[in-house]
Amino acid sequence: MLLRDISVVDENYEVREHQNIITEGDAIAYIGPELPADYRGESYDGRNKAAMPGFFNAHCHVPMTLIRGYGEGLPLDRWLNERMFPFEALLTADDMYWGALLGIAELLQSGAVSFTDMYMEMDGICRAVEQSGIKANLSHGTSAFSPEAHFTDTNGYKGLAYLMEYQKTAANDRIIGEASIHAEYTCTDTVAREVADFARAHGLRIHTHLSETRKEHEECKARRGGLTPAAWMERLGVFDAPVTAAHCIWVEDADIEILARHGATAVTCPSSNLKLGSGIAPVKKLLDAGVRVAIGTDGAASNNNLNCIEEVNLASILQKGATGDPLFLGPRDTLELACRAGALAQGRTGCGCLKAGNRADLVVYDLDKPHLQPVYDLLSNLLYSAQAGDVALTMVDGRVVYRDGEFPTIDLEQAIWNAGRIRDEKLARLAANC
Ligand SMILES: [Zn+2]
Repeated sequence: MLLRDISVVDENYEVREHQNIITEGDAIAYIGPELPADYRGESYDGRNKAAMPGFFNAHCHVPMTLIRGYGEGLPLDRWLNERMFPFEALLTADDMYWGALLGIAELLQSGAVSFTDMYMEMDGICRAVEQSGIKANLSHGTSAFSPEAHFTDTNGYKGLAYLMEYQKTAANDRIIGEASIHAEYTCTDTVAREVADFARAHGLRIHTHLSETRKEHEECKARRGGLTPAAWMERLGVFDAPVTAAHCIWVEDADIEILARHGATAVTCPSSNLKLGSGIAPVKKLLDAGVRVAIGTDGAASNNNLNCIEEVNLASILQKGATGDPLFLGPRDTLELACRAGALAQGRTGCGCLKAGNRADLVVYDLDKPHLQPVYDLLSNLLYSAQAGDVALTMVDGRVVYRDGEFPTIDLEQAIWNAGRIRDEKLARLAANC
């Protein structure tokens, strides 16, 4: 595809006007002012539009769209135990497929090209990712409570084995399987150590939740002889694999050193963290210590949407407010977190910025909107004024997967109908069990 006469957010996250982008196969072949005379492929009019690198949503539970808005108004432990866990226990692989498809539509429409996910029933989620054309690093959260349990006994292991088999026969590298420890408070020493050993032996990344709530962080210290969740994981070898650690709100200075020392990625999920009353991640401290920080939506049950444009905006302004520094995390630095850091957290090189040779993962914004005019500083309009409805086109690996309200790979009407059907079926079963 040739995107003609378009504003481009380049590899340094600076704006270049009146550019032409040519994509070939899954890559960007050319970005520059010259217009090829003999181009024969599809041509896209880029006037009054801007091309940005797509977002890499670094922490999600995509099928949780099915539980959006269910159990509002409860404190966290009651919300989890009385609403989330009983509902999730009823979800099948087919339900996951529909929930994931709905969530992926939301992601593509708000400028995401990839997401890192932890959930269950990998076959349903893989099917949705494969069909939709988005990229994803998928994992099945590993939980274990019995001291006798081993990793190979867990559903987390079965899910990972499925993903590893899937990757062997996949026609592309859009799906990457990761190991996962759901969290410190849902895992034993034995199983966490075995996950770490397995990940290291097979060159896998590990996705986990880390110090999301003060309660979780303090209870870990009380239970594990003063060790914080990060210190506990380090002792078991978890950080010897590349780790994506969601939340990191209550991490202490020594924990931040652990993350930095091992090249782990901390993922801030501001909407979810604020809505659940968990707190605000110390992003400045993490960055100052050299920790890679990425941005995630978390699941739609706690966010309550997967709108990446809103998440990236909030990540920036929340940190300005929290630090009292209006210059902290400006548009360029925020894009660095949302795009390049997210791509690196997924182990994807050649992604995360627009330049020739990189994957053609791009998002086109329509600037012909009341809230996007006038333009003094395009980047600040894209970060602080844009809405998800401004995305005109999303391309992943050179393939258009969203354009002008249409999803060429997703029957949205069918996904919405099935989400409603699943809601009704599960509520009836839950009522019958009472
Ligand atoms: Zn989460």
